[in-house]
This record gives sequence, C-alpha cells and structure tokens, in this order.
Amino acid sequence: MNILFPKVFCLMLFTAQLFDSSAQKQEQCNILPTPVVYKRVKGNLYLREKIHLNKENWPKNTLNQLDSMLQKFHKITIQDTTGKPFIRLRKLTNVPKDFYSISISSFIFISYSNERALYYAMQSLVQLIKTENKIKYIPKAFVQDYPKFDWRGLHLDVSRHFFSVEEIKRYLDLMAMYKLNTFHWHLTDDQGWRIEINAYPKLTTVGAFRDSTLIGHYTANPRKYDSQRHGGFYRQQEIKEIVSYAAERYIDVVPEIEMPGHSRAALAAYPRFSCTGKQQKVPGLWGVFEDIYCTKEESFQFLSNILNEVVSLFPGKYIHIGGDEAPKSRWKSCAKCQNVMQKNRLKDAHELQSYFISRIEQFLNKKGKNLIGWDEILEGGLSPNATVMSWRGFKGGIAAAKNGHYVVMTPGTHCYFDHYQGKSNEEPLAIGGYTPLEKVYQFNPIPDELDAAQASYILGGQANLWTEYITSYDQLEYMAYPRAIALSQALWCQNKPNYEKFCQVLYDVHYEKLDSLKVNYSKSSQRASITSKVNEKGISLILGSPDTSDVFCTSLRTKLSGEEIKLNLKAGEELMITRPKKHVTEQEIEFISKNSALGSTIHLTRHHALGAKVNYITKPNPQYHYAPSLLIDGQKGVRPWRGHEWIGFDTCKIIIEIKLPEKKKIKEIVFSFLESNGSWIYLPKQIQVSNQMKRRKKIRSTTNINSELVRLKIKKRLKTINIEINTFSSIPQGLPGAGRVPWTFLDEIVFH
Ligand SMILES: [Zn+2]
Repeated sequence: MNILFPKVFCLMLFTAQLFDSSAQKQEQCNILPTPVVYKRVKGNLYLREKIHLNKENWPKNTLNQLDSMLQKFHKITIQDTTGKPFIRLRKLTNVPKDFYSISISSFIFISYSNERALYYAMQSLVQLIKTENKIKYIPKAFVQDYPKFDWRGLHLDVSRHFFSVEEIKRYLDLMAMYKLNTFHWHLTDDQGWRIEINAYPKLTTVGAFRDSTLIGHYTANPRKYDSQRHGGFYRQQEIKEIVSYAAERYIDVVPEIEMPGHSRAALAAYPRFSCTGKQQKVPGLWGVFEDIYCTKEESFQFLSNILNEVVSLFPGKYIHIGGDEAPKSRWKSCAKCQNVMQKNRLKDAHELQSYFISRIEQFLNKKGKNLIGWDEILEGGLSPNATVMSWRGFKGGIAAAKNGHYVVMTPGTHCYFDHYQGKSNEEPLAIGGYTPLEKVYQFNPIPDELDAAQASYILGGQANLWTEYITSYDQLEYMAYPRAIALSQALWCQNKPNYEKFCQVLYDVHYEKLDSLKVNYSKSSQRASITSKVNEKGISLILGSPDTSDVFCTSLRTKLSGEEIKLNLKAGEELMITRPKKHVTEQEIEFISKNSALGSTIHLTRHHALGAKVNYITKPNPQYHYAPSLLIDGQKGVRPWRGHEWIGFDTCKIIIEIKLPEKKKIKEIVFSFLESNGSWIYLPKQIQVSNQMKRRKKIRSTTNINSELVRLKIKKRLKTINIEINTFSSIPQGLPGAGRVPWTFLDEIVFH
C-alpha cells in the first residue's frame, strides 16, 4: 500500500460523536428557515386525529392551508369548536415586523403581530409535527421568530420555457412553505411574450410562440435546432388567479416586462416599434440580440399602453422593467434615436437608455408604482426613484445603496439557480457557472463596505431561475430545490446555524417532506466533494461532505494491473496519492455515499509532477484563476466545460514555471487543453519547453497541435521547467469570436 494512507479511525472519537449526534437530534429544531429562538422543553404534546379550533378566529386562507397540510402530511383533520381550542391565538402589538411566537405545552399558543405572521406561525407549526410509528406529536418547545429581510425572492423565467398555471401554483406553494415572499415573474423576453395584452393581441398570437428551439448548449459549434413549436401565454384572468393565489400565501408578485432590450418577441409581433422596422421571427436561440425598442415617441406610447394593463393586473408596489443587456448599435444608426438624443441634449447611448428608463419611471410613478430594474439601469444615470436589482455581482447594488436607492441583491455568484450545483459531468445540461448549495447558504445581501445607514437600503435578496436549459417543471424543481431553502436561510435568519447543522435538518426532516410532495429536488450536495492539497510525497485528496453521519465507500482501481483497494471514508478524511516510483499509472477512484447512494468518480493520473511547485509567470484571467496546484493534481478538468475549475488565460503568450520536487529523467510531457470554439476557447499554436537552470535553455517545441492532448518528447533530466504557450494573436475570420484574442484553457500537465 505504498500509494494509499487512509487516516486511521479513532474509535474513541467516533463513539463520542455518535452520542453527541443523538443528543443533538433531541434538541434539533426542525423548522426551516431556522427561527430566531427555539427552546426545547421536556416532554411531547401528542396529537389525535382531530384537533379543535375556533375557526372564526382564523383568516380563511391560513385556516384552509393549515387544514390541507395537516391532512396531507399527518392525516389530521380540523374541527370547529366554541369551547377551549387546541390552538389558541393572541394578537400582539409593539413587536418586530411579521413577528410570531409558538408555545407548545399541553396545548398550542400562537402570538402574532399580523395575519402574515400568523401564516408563518402556521407553516412553522406544521413543520414541527412528527410522526413515529403512527404516533403524532410535537416536542414541547417555545419558538420566537421574525424575518431579517423584507424581500425574500424567487424569480422564474417563463419566456425561454413556458410553465402552466398549475405549475406556477406549485412553485408558489413551495415558496410559501419556506417563507419566501416575493415572486419575480419574468413574463417577456426575446423568445416569448407570455402576458395577454388586450390593446395588442398580436403580442400573444404572434409573440408567444416560436417555431424552433436550440438543442444543446449555446456554445455548440455548429448549432442545431429542433423543429417544434414552443410557446404559451397567460390570459389576464389566469394572471389574476395566480396573483390572488400568491396573496393567499403572502407572496407579492413582481411582473417583469423587459425593455428596451430582450424585446424580440414583441418586435416580431409589432416590428414598427424597432429602429429598423424589419420583420423578424421570434428567435429560438438564446443570448443578446441587436434589435431593441426604438426610443421614438410611438414606442413610448406602445409601452405605456402595455404597462397600463400590467399595472391594473398586479396590485403590488413594484413593476420590473428589465433594462439589462440592451446593445446600443441600432440606436446609434437610427435617425429617430439620434434626434431624441439631440433634442434632450444626451451625450451618448447610455444617457439615452437612462432617458428611456426615466420616462417609463415617470409613467409608473404616476400610476402609484415603483420601478425596479437590473443594474444596467445605473449606466448613464439612475432615474430618481428606481430600485436596483444587482445581478452582475454586488457592485451595482453597492453603488445604488450609497446613492440612497433601494436594492435587491441577486449576484450571479450566489443567486443564479440556472448554474450547476455539482460537477458538470454529473449534472443535467446547464448554462454554466457553479453555485452549489453551500455557496447559496453563504449568501449575505449586505456587503461589508456599506455602513449601517447605507445597508438599510438593501431590501433583501433573490435567486433567479433563467430557463434556457430548464425544459420541464421537474427540472425546474431540481434546479430550485434545495437551493431555495438555503436562500431562505440566508434571507430569513437573524443568526443562521452553520451549514452542517442546516444540512442535518434538511436531510433528516425536509427531504422526507419534499418526497411526500413528490418534489424533484436535487441531492447533489450529498455527493462527496473532493479537494486536493499538495504535500511532500504528492497530493492528498480530501473528502468533503456536510453530512457528518455519512460514510463513503471508496474504491480505488488501478487500470492495467486491475488492482483494487476498498475502504470507507468520512468527511474530513484524506487519501494520499504519492508520485510513482517508475511508470505513470491511471487510476479511477469512486466515492459512494451510504446515505444518499450517490456516487462520484475521479480519474486520476499518478504522475511525476504530483505536488510540484507551479508558478504562473503569466497570470490567468481572474475568473479562471484557481490554485496553481490544479495543474498538477492528477486530475484533468471536467468535461463538458462550463466555466468551472480550469485554468483560463486570455493572453497570446502564456508562461508557466514548474519546479519538480527532485531532479528526474522525464520521457514525455502531456498537456491537456480544452477546445470549445463556440466559447472562443481554441487550441494554442505553439508550445515550447525550456530547462530553467542559470539560463533558460530551450529543449523542445512543437507547432503540431491538432487535438486537446499534446505530447512532447523530452528525454532529459529536469528539475525546473519553463513552459511557453503561444496562441493566435487573434481568432481568424470566419470562426466564433473572430478578431479577438483566443482563450486558452489548460488543466493538467502530466509528466512521464
Ligand atoms: Zn431608433
């Protein structure tokens, strides 16, 4: 076993932990989001199959939902009584906003500040009920609770893929269970207009349907399309139905009508409101399109008429007008737009966008509504009362809050649920990115650089579900849950417990609840997460898991020899992979979680530079700047590449220095590059390897590069190696990204 040193179990420690966790479970609070106070008291309150309430004291919506949840989860029915009820209510004043408390003794006593708070108390109460061997009970306890942020949002893009009224209702039910209170309904975009507007019927007869849709990823080259008509829209009656369904769950609905960009579906129906007037179809491709609304007077009339109907359908305070990703090329070459600029003394196209948004804001303000938009509305000057939704990181939100504007934080780093939640080769196709459950859990909408007064402008946060790659409701749930529960923790809790404690409640209690509702949630967070660390003999693979009760059956197979080693690992334990004595070997290591049965596999090349010192003389692009050890950890970057864990450069010349732990005779160096032309990632043109002694001495170079694996014969004793990689100075004409500096992505340099 020269390659493998599993850390030995300490028996004492192991039993101590077991004892601890069972005691903890007794005290564990099963409510998510975690309440401010949960005090366990001795004993349990046992429940019969019928419980008695004074029905007339309850708001009808809350009572109905309590009734249906008790039925569904616990087979308990509610009966009316005029005597002493089992659940007693008391209204409070002078308490924090949306405050409630629940006291469980020989009966249940709920105190609440308003009807919304009573609803939250009801949701918490249902979560506290346990059933064991058909016996239903609630552990006696005292709960006190109120939310940290007012805006606890979940967004849904129904343009890229359409979801039915019933599906939206189910989405709202789950939001309500976890006390999320704002539904941002992205109703219009390039690929489909989804809201019936009586003044402009073609918006839905034409704009709500497309003839074909992209198959696979946007970056595929060449792209393929299906030939299926996709679409749908909500009639105004259905919109009202959803708004009132949401209101019964204390969820505000914020409609989004995108402008001036992301408007191709509307312009397919009414091309005269674009700059060119050109008739184009509703596109089945994702991305950003050049054609947007023209800033001429007729367009404002068109949009005002639309918003007039929108305003009457949505009773909430906010109307979202998009404002993001609007290319200015059409405006720059449009006589009418240029005229608007001159007349209003606007110095550039950004100021024209600002003028556009301000006019829309004036209209909305007159109707008693507040405008909210994506952070691009900051460019060219923010209109006076606008609220900013910060999606390109926290930066836009910080700038807006410092200027006294309200902000909702939805940074891509933590809040984009269309991103992968696990390794791309273990997940369904997604747009890219990497936002695992733990990352969402760490989300804090208030950045450090804001003082208390500025921070008071942060209304809260929200996660966004863009649906380019979410083609069914099942997949929508998979992407949203359990991440939406982690989001709720981040936005509700005054002082959230650590991630491991959250996962314990999630896995032990809430997965069962979600199962009973047949929610297609993701278990990806239960997969082993493997990180590597350099050590003097090679590298260590460290197994990570939030589930301290889980054990991972680990098998390590050596290819060729067929040798196999099996052992059990727990979170925090390590496998040491040493450098080979002679030949490079290929290994496959599989980790299977006992609790979730989910496995993950690592392909490992045990080579002579494992744990070597890597120095980036050329710095990678900050977005793809991972620890240098990534290049020599024995693992090639994951395919399909979706932006995660590859070293990425955007320069024409790349220099990397590798210092081997000892001088060795090297037969061959194998480079593993990525080729993904649709993402402007190309293979390099030339690689040169030099021996770095007192002076640099060139040993080998090659220009024969036509696949992702490039082998370079060396046959020399080496210690410090200098690698120079040269790319095209710009991407040749006719290829994706033509004229730009190509990206170079590298993961793993194997030394034979
Ligand atoms: Zn124009």
